[in-house]
Amino acid sequence: MLIKNFIHGQYLDNHSAETFKVINPATNQVVYEVEVADTAIQKAAIESAQQGFEKWSAFSAVERSRILLKAVALLRERNDELAKIEVIDTGKPFQEAVAVDIVTGADSIEFFAGLAPSIQGNQQDVDGDFYYTRREPLGVCAGIGAWNYPLQIACWKSAPALACGNSMIFKPSEETPLGANKLAEIYIEAGVPAGVFNVVHGDGKVGSWLSHHPDVAKVSFTGEVGTGKKVMAAAATTLKDVTMELGGKSPLIVFEDADIEQAVSAAMLGNFYTQGEICTNGTRVFVHSSIHHKFIEQLKERTEKNIIMGDPMNEETNFGALISKKHHDLVMGYIKKGLDQGATLLTGGKAASPQSAPHGNFVEPTVFINCTDDMDIVKEEIFGPVMSVLTFEDEEEVIQRANSTGFGLAAGVFTLNIQRAHRVIHQMQAGICWINAYGASPAQMPVGGYKQSGIGRENGMETLNHYTQVKSIYVGMNPLESPF
Ligand code: NAP
Repeated sequence: MLIKNFIHGQYLDNHSAETFKVINPATNQVVYEVEVADTAIQKAAIESAQQGFEKWSAFSAVERSRILLKAVALLRERNDELAKIEVIDTGKPFQEAVAVDIVTGADSIEFFAGLAPSIQGNQQDVDGDFYYTRREPLGVCAGIGAWNYPLQIACWKSAPALACGNSMIFKPSEETPLGANKLAEIYIEAGVPAGVFNVVHGDGKVGSWLSHHPDVAKVSFTGEVGTGKKVMAAAATTLKDVTMELGGKSPLIVFEDADIEQAVSAAMLGNFYTQGEICTNGTRVFVHSSIHHKFIEQLKERTEKNIIMGDPMNEETNFGALISKKHHDLVMGYIKKGLDQGATLLTGGKAASPQSAPHGNFVEPTVFINCTDDMDIVKEEIFGPVMSVLTFEDEEEVIQRANSTGFGLAAGVFTLNIQRAHRVIHQMQAGICWINAYGASPAQMPVGGYKQSGIGRENGMETLNHYTQVKSIYVGMNPLESPF
């Protein structure tokens, strides 16, 4: 199968005939080839997005909203077939993709479609004159996605962009390109005009072209901190607006009065869901020393008993394959470093070859105990199923240690003391926080990072401000006074 770039409502052939291969992480077989967006495609993508913007931004907000809601209905109708695409591209379990990936993407489009007609300016009288403001779209926006939630990321970026009247050129990760094409087809079928959502394929070079392009008004990027810095530097060449959704090394703090069963559930969800490939994962689990023994006993038992690794398409599989052989080796390298630096394996730690998918990139769900703050596994984002458990004695100490990182994406606290819960979470230097919960991210809730984990927000009403610009209009009602 050959996948093409989606430009102006249709698939367009490239001129260079350059392609790249996409590999199923669970089999390491090539599933399809994809045409690279060459210079001819790039030129067409920009011209088309400019035309799309002109047309779409002239629609009333209510019209935009109605059309986007049709796209939501189509996404929900095709949930299962889209989920299968995500499983083949990412290696995540079907039981997750079918329940989460498309649903949460559709939720975001529905949320912003609902908000579109309420985008408004304000008006103020000034000494008999007055001014008013309009919230206007930015123009052609670029979206650049990571590979862990490909379709959801395409939805989370395009939903506010399109609701506000912008057009978007989206570049998915070259490892997971198909979901964005399917979203583009759905937008067209729902009635979104051609050119409003184009998809270009390729590696970082295509992303870099988008980030530098003078006719792109904004880049919304999801990926690693290092790549984010490059994208931001490129965007600075034409002073583009940026949204940066980057990596993390988030703390999950479990106090002595926590419901241990719930806290273990959170630690497992926050480390092993999507085989650990989630940006907000609570990979530094700080457990009060008085409950450490009970906590790790339950964690070991449930990890060894309840995780079912295997062919991600099997409905009972709840733990899939890592995105690529390269990433698998990187994760295994971190496990080796953990051992070399003196951490103790509680469970896991090995590459795996389950019977139902013997050639996939599997790594066992891994828990390290006896960790210290200076170990690489505790300091660096691994983006795989590797949990580090640390102990602490008191509140002040754990707050200081939890914050002692350049990342600031997420944080979680488990305690039944309501005052402590809020007191601690208010001191976390992180943009996405949970109390007695972990990982939930409804469309209504703005998400994004503090410190080096990001700039701007996705989802929530907040995000309307990131896809519009304010125009102030002063209206003179009095005779104009002039010294000339
Ligand atoms: P990545 O390597 O930074 O790549 C992200 C995207 O940027 C890909 O589409 C990539 O293209 C593209 N890219 C690479 N170099 C570029 C350049 N110079 N200019 C413009 N674009 C460029 O990240 P990843 O490995 O795909 O994803 C994992 C990372 O994403 C983790 O750090 C994770 O924490 C983070 N993440 C954050 C969030 C959040 O919401 N905060 C959500 C999900 C993931 P190719 O891959 O095709 O080369």
